[in-house]
Amino acid sequence: MAVLCLSVAGPTPILAQQAATPTLPRVHFVATGGTISNRDGGRLTAEELAKSMPGVERYARLTFEQFANVASSELTLQQWLGLAKRINELYATDKDIAGVVVTSGTDTLEETAFFLHLTVKDPRPVVVVGSMRNPSTLGYEGAANLLEGVRVAADPAARNKGALVVLNDEINSARNVTKTDALRLQTFRSREYGQMGVVDRDRVVFFSQITQRTNERLEFDVAKLTALPRVDVIMVYQGAPGDLIKAAVDNGAKGIVIAVAGAGATSGTQNEGLAYAAEKGVFVVNSTRAGSGRIAPASGDLPGGAQVNEAQRRRRQFSIAGEDHTPVKARILLMMALTKTTDRNEIQRIFSEY
Ligand code: GLU
Repeated sequence: MAVLCLSVAGPTPILAQQAATPTLPRVHFVATGGTISNRDGGRLTAEELAKSMPGVERYARLTFEQFANVASSELTLQQWLGLAKRINELYATDKDIAGVVVTSGTDTLEETAFFLHLTVKDPRPVVVVGSMRNPSTLGYEGAANLLEGVRVAADPAARNKGALVVLNDEINSARNVTKTDALRLQTFRSREYGQMGVVDRDRVVFFSQITQRTNERLEFDVAKLTALPRVDVIMVYQGAPGDLIKAAVDNGAKGIVIAVAGAGATSGTQNEGLAYAAEKGVFVVNSTRAGSGRIAPASGDLPGGAQVNEAQRRRRQFSIAGEDHTPVKARILLMMALTKTTDRNEIQRIFSEY
């Protein structure tokens, strides 16, 4: 297969185009690393991954670039910003691209995918792909997942669905998907929401649409952002000390996600920590540690809601219901909300619309 390589400046040293029928959609592949590239003796490059998919030329014209080559948890928030800016730039300047595929390690893939879900505005899809087995393991499924990701990215039906996660023949929304098992291939699940679609031998099939704001309806703009505000996640567990919340606040957190037990319980001295956060004007998002389920706004926010005292009123002023976002995703949404506003009702609106 003919491969044309071009060097470009900056964090994108390789661009290459594989020969394929020009009428096919073009898919651009951005490699960031992860198990999918973690071969014993040296990581696979974007080019090697691109060449690992026999038959890809039946579905798409492929271009690719190496953005990073690290484990997912090693990607920095600066790199997240760089990745989102790069994809927005690609879409703004290259109308020929039908879709973008990003490879990632699976450990924090759901976070990177949700960040892209909130920050890539173009209607064209971003499909995030990884693998559970590395290229040196019998049964490596990376090349198959990548090919399936390319097929989804090339499919017009994938537009306007936010970022998508494709592994193991399944398509899940970046909004809803979670890694549910440390080792199994079928780890990426959307729990009670179910998969969005499948990638079968004959075609890509979508079963559902996303109703929350995505793509052109996104209100966040990463173009001018140089950093993301610090937001920490603190877990509720029996007898938990509130001084961890205080430490987060004292170390510069602009927001805290509290992974509450059930639909809102804290424990130990955490309420003291939360009162401290409110005193300091730090927003606290409530998200359940249960793995799924919605946290609704407090009854005081509703017509005819309960009367509250001054301390409770202050807590309420800085407290946001995390809706159905898991704690790590609520953290990303709060970071993005804080890049736009410090108005509590606005942040709550954002949580109800994304
Ligand atoms: N499972 C790791 C991740 O999520 C990959 C390990 C590695 O690439 O070094 O990135």
